[in-house]
Amino acid sequence: MLKRLFTIIALFIAAVAGVPTSAAAAINVITATEDLAALVREVGGDRIKVESLARGYQDPHFVEAKPSFVLKLHSADLLIVVGRELEIGWLPPLITQARNARIQPGGAGYLDASLHAHILEMPTGQITRAMGDVHPMGNPHYWLGPDNGRIIAKDIQNKLAELQPGDAAYFAQRYAEFDRQLAAAEARWKAAMAPYRGTKVVTYHRSWPNFVDAFGLDVMGYVEPKPGIPPSPSHTLELIQEMKRQNVKLILVEPYFDLKTPNNVGNATGAKVLVMMPSVGGAPQIKTYFDLFDYNTTLLTDAIKQAGAK
Ligand SMILES: [Zn+2]
Repeated sequence: MLKRLFTIIALFIAAVAGVPTSAAAAINVITATEDLAALVREVGGDRIKVESLARGYQDPHFVEAKPSFVLKLHSADLLIVVGRELEIGWLPPLITQARNARIQPGGAGYLDASLHAHILEMPTGQITRAMGDVHPMGNPHYWLGPDNGRIIAKDIQNKLAELQPGDAAYFAQRYAEFDRQLAAAEARWKAAMAPYRGTKVVTYHRSWPNFVDAFGLDVMGYVEPKPGIPPSPSHTLELIQEMKRQNVKLILVEPYFDLKTPNNVGNATGAKVLVMMPSVGGAPQIKTYFDLFDYNTTLLTDAIKQAGAK
């Protein structure tokens, strides 16, 4: 009798507070990066709440861990990581400290978004982190190819449906709508970039192989001697000579790197330095996965025209 009374009171409070009593609660998703959070929003709609640990203007290889991250992970139903060891420098100890069995690697609430993605620059031969190479498992910046955005979204749909089967049809419908919008956007981005196919660029870090694959740019070199290794005078000199030889007029730099070396290289070669955004949230106006490509393709086409790089 008492139990029944409590149930009635609970239902009454829920009704007053506007909390749905029949539908399952929103799935509490934590993602390593804002790109993944943006894709979760596309598929999850109002049946999820999602928060990213890293901010879009931070280097995702090197994120400063905050105590609040552990609290967020502790209460998460689902953790989605970029994988390919992108987060190896900061995330694994936090997952352990979170004391949440659901989100441990291999748990039902753990999703590695790289599982089915097209991964480029796969190492051949012995896998090693020697020389500080931060890409020992293939290139982890794969979300910058829109085809991979679609693949990640599909994996997210399947995982959300597994965690909340009652909303499976809702997630499937949201994914189908995202897929449709992405196909239209891809056609738009490719058309905008088509006149500039084969434009030679240099990039600071190896962040863009999937992006240049999708849009047809030609990467001639890197400011970093190896991923994660700061520029050295000898490498910079070689890069300048190669850029002059090949007449490269654009240097793409991620927002979290020092512009000193890129500017020096730009001065020596006449190349334009362009700060490209590798992630959602890199600039305030980049709020969705679509915004990310709109932003970068517009920036690039304007810069190529200005620099006469093509
Ligand atoms: Zn990297």
